[in-house]
Amino acid sequence: MRLLFSLILTWLGFSTLAKAQDDAQLQIGGATIDVSFDPAPPAALRRLALDWIATAARAVTVYYTRFPVPHVDLAVNFHEGEGVDSGRAFGWKRAHISIAVGQSTTAADFADDWTITHEMVHLAFPSVPESHHWIEEGLATYVEPVARARAGDLTPEKVWGDMFDAMSQGLPKAGDRGLDFTHTWGRTYWGGALFCLLADIEIRKRTGNRLGLEDATRGILKAGGSIEVEWPLERALRIADQTVGVRVLEELYDQMRAAPVSPDLHQLWEDLGVARQAGKVVFDDSAPLAPVRKAITAPAASGSAFRN
Ligand SMILES: [Zn+2]
Repeated sequence: MRLLFSLILTWLGFSTLAKAQDDAQLQIGGATIDVSFDPAPPAALRRLALDWIATAARAVTVYYTRFPVPHVDLAVNFHEGEGVDSGRAFGWKRAHISIAVGQSTTAADFADDWTITHEMVHLAFPSVPESHHWIEEGLATYVEPVARARAGDLTPEKVWGDMFDAMSQGLPKAGDRGLDFTHTWGRTYWGGALFCLLADIEIRKRTGNRLGLEDATRGILKAGGSIEVEWPLERALRIADQTVGVRVLEELYDQMRAAPVSPDLHQLWEDLGVARQAGKVVFDDSAPLAPVRKAITAPAASGSAFRN
């Protein structure tokens, strides 16, 4: 409806109205991405913004082997200033994302941005009841850098260094309960991300490093579990586990839903062979889980899973 309306406006030559908003369409990973810029940006900023959206969409496509939904409306709202501020993904009626961007945002700012990829990852999981919001944010927080590494947009050093620095924010604090019952920022975003990291590692351990969290989550999408539908969390986890043939997500959820589970992160980084020395990320490839760590962030083979 909106698109048709803007086409008619263009046809009638309403140049004043056309300047207020500017539309573009991208085809990536089997999806149509209808972008609307408000207000219409100068040509250089428009090109940078479209590249930024396309790069994120390709990363998400590499991770899921296709873009999560067949169609998404993406509203970019420009304001004064520099950098990408905030984004939100919605599933009501049909998938849409809105994101706020400063008009002085540079190519380097866009390349650094995680927000747009995070919002696109949200499209790849069903809407679940509010008490499980941690899984929605946890998946988006965990998958975003991993997908960008798969696409060759981030180095493994950057991904693991950031996780090494940030993951402890997801550990339960004194008085915290399980993930379904403590809804602080740290437990929601990083507690959820920690759940995803533990699940990814465990799936790989139990499948001889053949399958990972991406295979499990692709199964959810394949069963129709995108942001456009509302599911009980248990259904999503069951389908994910059935897809990889190991009951990892359901077991982890049983453990972490109500109890404040606090894994030994120091030991986990040591097992994965991730450390910081004088501020620099160093990998130990002789660590027991080094092959798992490498598999998680290895760039996808060229000629990879997606077209266009
Ligand atoms: Zn989010």
